[in-house]
Amino acid sequence: MEKYSVERFSALCDAGDFTASCVDVPKFLGFCRECPNYGNNWMCPPFDFDPMTIWSYCGKIRLAVVRIKPEGESAASAEERALKIIGAEKRKLLLELLDEEKRIRGGVSCSAGSCDLCEKCARTEGKPCRNPQMARHSIESLGADVSIALKKYLGLEISWIKEGKMPEYLTLAAALLLPKENDATITSLRHRSPLYLPR
Ligand code: SF4
Repeated sequence: MEKYSVERFSALCDAGDFTASCVDVPKFLGFCRECPNYGNNWMCPPFDFDPMTIWSYCGKIRLAVVRIKPEGESAASAEERALKIIGAEKRKLLLELLDEEKRIRGGVSCSAGSCDLCEKCARTEGKPCRNPQMARHSIESLGADVSIALKKYLGLEISWIKEGKMPEYLTLAAALLLPKENDATITSLRHRSPLYLPR
């Protein structure tokens, strides 16, 4: 059992400001193309919709961040430790946001990182998503730069494993997208992207 402590951070951002300063869809699409999940995970690009449609639907964005400090020693490699620690906390954060989503009309959550609810995504077999009630896009998959967003709205720096060395903190960044007051777009978005928006 890995030992670690957890800190939580939250920021409510104006969606227009967030989009202008943190979203660059073509840039992130380029990064996604280099990832094995590209075209192999329903929550990752390429999409049959323009991610900017999602951002333009938002009035506010609540960033939900979990910063994890690994503690003690472990015989496992930094990568193995990080996977175990992040796996548990990522699922917890997803469940919390899905619960919050239900209580906010038109609210839609973004998961922290790509969807890993199934061992092998159904997209690899050309089959529909097995769990659309829980599967959510990550902020990055929609073209947002999490490093810029966390620095700008929370003053947090993200660190990664370098040369097999665990950083001081591991960071999970998820979000709840909140609709504009006039949510007439919700119906059309639901039609365009049934996987994405809650029924
Ligand atoms: S729930 Fe399963 S099938 Fe759906 S996107 Fe996630 S990994 Fe793929």
